[in-house]
Amino acid sequence: MCGIVGVYYPDAELAPRLAYYALFSLQHRGQESAGLASYDNLIRYKKGMGLVTEVFSDEDFDLLAGRSVIGHVRYSTTGLSRIENAQPFVVKSKAGFIAVAHNGNLVNYTLLRNQLENEGRVFTTNSDTEIITQLLSKFLLGNGDVINALENLNSVLIGSYTMTMLVDDTLIGYRDPVGFKPLCVGELDDGYIICSESCAIDALGGKFVRDVEPGEAVIVRDGEIEFQRIAESKRRATCIFEYIYFARPDSIIDGISVYEARTQMGKILARESPVDADYVSAVPDSGITAAIGYAEESGLPYMESLIKNRYVGRTFIMPAQTLRELSVRLKVNVVRGNVEGKKIVLVDDSIVRGTTSKRIIEMIKNSGAKEVHVRIGSPPIVAPCYFGIDMKTREELIAANHTVEEIGKIMGADSLAYLSLSGLLEAIKKAGGRKDYCLACLTERYPVPVPGEIYDSPS
Ligand code: SF4
Repeated sequence: MCGIVGVYYPDAELAPRLAYYALFSLQHRGQESAGLASYDNLIRYKKGMGLVTEVFSDEDFDLLAGRSVIGHVRYSTTGLSRIENAQPFVVKSKAGFIAVAHNGNLVNYTLLRNQLENEGRVFTTNSDTEIITQLLSKFLLGNGDVINALENLNSVLIGSYTMTMLVDDTLIGYRDPVGFKPLCVGELDDGYIICSESCAIDALGGKFVRDVEPGEAVIVRDGEIEFQRIAESKRRATCIFEYIYFARPDSIIDGISVYEARTQMGKILARESPVDADYVSAVPDSGITAAIGYAEESGLPYMESLIKNRYVGRTFIMPAQTLRELSVRLKVNVVRGNVEGKKIVLVDDSIVRGTTSKRIIEMIKNSGAKEVHVRIGSPPIVAPCYFGIDMKTREELIAANHTVEEIGKIMGADSLAYLSLSGLLEAIKKAGGRKDYCLACLTERYPVPVPGEIYDSPS
């Protein structure tokens, strides 16, 4: 999960600021590092560790002046949490200046890297985005045509790769043929924005144009925009977790309101797993919308049991190992007056490792709650994600190794229930969605070939 943007704006001084504001509204997609790259006869860039507001200062925007800008907020998957792996990746090649901001993860990273190294190419990082940048440069050198280079790129990459790119001052957005990650286009008063989520278009006061289709590119040259099909989309599989957890609830992805989808998940969860309780509460922030849906359907009041400190960034110095208990407390605290003596339904979006949930339940119970019934707005996560989410092995996934009953006991909950898979699909359908999503971490059937896993090939 990362956030990407691309901005074209004729005022070169303003363009990087607009990209900065867009990145700021995508901060929820990654807090580890942030970066911007712009073209003005050459590509200049600034990237650093931490939140968008921590990385950039006012002076940076003079340095970054340029009409075409791309940006990235990172959440690490492939590649360690280090400044070298921060994006955009920038190269100067015989084909011109190239910058790439990537959301996704390549399944065939090692193979591609070996091939490129055998050709004599040198890598400075272990990020898969550097592979994409090098390949793009290689293919552009072939005949210099952007469309052709994207077609070639598409023929060798396996995995998830939605990107914004600069090739000199040409701004490009591309969504892989599976459409794992979202990408949409907005119109500004005198320019364009390409971004992961529509909330970034809203933040700039822009007008939503449309989602980029899987396998499609959007290209902005000298202020003119064109959409171009690069590859056929034989199987569409947008990550279902965009709707469950990642995206901001005020975003619309592929025509579906994330808020509506999440509310429906909560409503169906309430029908599937009702509880006799005093009120419904959420694990903030991502559990809130499903909890509202649960409360609405069950007729129980919605109240807050936990308050989140929203200012904990990646550069926040986390407590030392000996003070580990502190780390959850610093992020969330209990509203003691609300929980004392109460039977509570606590709604969360998902459980990955279960460690945070366990501590939260402990905190609520220690504050005097009578019963805590946990309800999860998604089915159990039983398999790893190879497409850009930090769930790499079955060992780390609590639901891959324990039954629902066992998980409830481990977490100290009075009861635990997950939304069923059919309930999840019904919620998406009710919100106006399609049938074809990536559900691999829930079903163990993968939409692209992954060594050692079951490939759910499009028949
Ligand atoms: S495996 Fe799960 S988290 Fe990964 S892309 Fe598919 S649905 Fe999303």
